[in-house]
Amino acid sequence: MSIMAETARKLLAKRIFNEQLERCQVDYFDYYFLHAMGRSVYGTVQEQKGFEFMVQKKAEGKIRHIGFSWHDDADMLDRILTDHPETELVQLQLNYIDWENESVQSRKCYEVGVKHGVQVTVMEPLKGGALVRLPEAAANILKEADPDAGNASWGIRFAASLDQVEDNISYMKDFQPLTEGERETIAKTVQIINDSIAIPCTACRYCTSGCPKKIAIPEYFSLYNNQKQFGLLAGLATTYGNLTATHGKPQDCIGCKQCEDHCPQHLPIVENLKLVAEAFQM
Ligand code: SF4
Ligand code: SF4
Repeated sequence: MSIMAETARKLLAKRIFNEQLERCQVDYFDYYFLHAMGRSVYGTVQEQKGFEFMVQKKAEGKIRHIGFSWHDDADMLDRILTDHPETELVQLQLNYIDWENESVQSRKCYEVGVKHGVQVTVMEPLKGGALVRLPEAAANILKEADPDAGNASWGIRFAASLDQVEDNISYMKDFQPLTEGERETIAKTVQIINDSIAIPCTACRYCTSGCPKKIAIPEYFSLYNNQKQFGLLAGLATTYGNLTATHGKPQDCIGCKQCEDHCPQHLPIVENLKLVAEAFQM
């Protein structure tokens, strides 16, 4: 970056930051986040020195804690937290249906956060409301376990029972973390929801290594299943965008069927990718 471009970048960042303070009518921010981090934006953040800017503002007393919200996989999160140990907290999509989901990777991302000792804040504990509108059989299991508890309370208690967020829940009156039995109840609910999935991909990844277009087949199928079960939520669209920035798009498939030869589930991958492309149309 030339000296002129560098000066212009600094002036712009300063102006925008001051405007943010002014609009919020505060002298400093308790928490300052880089929004929707992931592979597709990390290069730009580095180029624009986003972390250096936040560190500088923290030194000036204008930011108390720095962090980012996350929409990508655990490996990439690990890389960024390793590159930037100045990060104090990450906001993760954490809910019981995404906990073991291969595209969202809630559990893996949470464990990366724990490994790096950062605080975790929760995004989408109810998956944008989807965990309130459950399939009837899944809702019945929860109702049977606790007739007085609504679907939403299970989702909130799941997220709030995680150790790394427990410190932040003191405001929740008489909060009771999930018991082992209640965790089993949630696992049964997850099983029912997952049984209703549109594409029964097990995320074994046998299909991916030979793909000439480097299409993230299991991740796209996982997103499609999510979309079918819960609707096109903003988080899904962001994750889809990040995937297409670094992998072949579903519509890049040339129909060579190398993947199908390796799929132990005998899934019609080529046809399923067409469904994904149609569903996301981005
Ligand atoms: S059929 Fe499509 S997804 Fe499968 S290997 Fe070929 S290009 Fe990749
Ligand atoms: S091989 Fe089949 S089941 Fe395994 S990840 Fe690929 S599409 Fe899914």
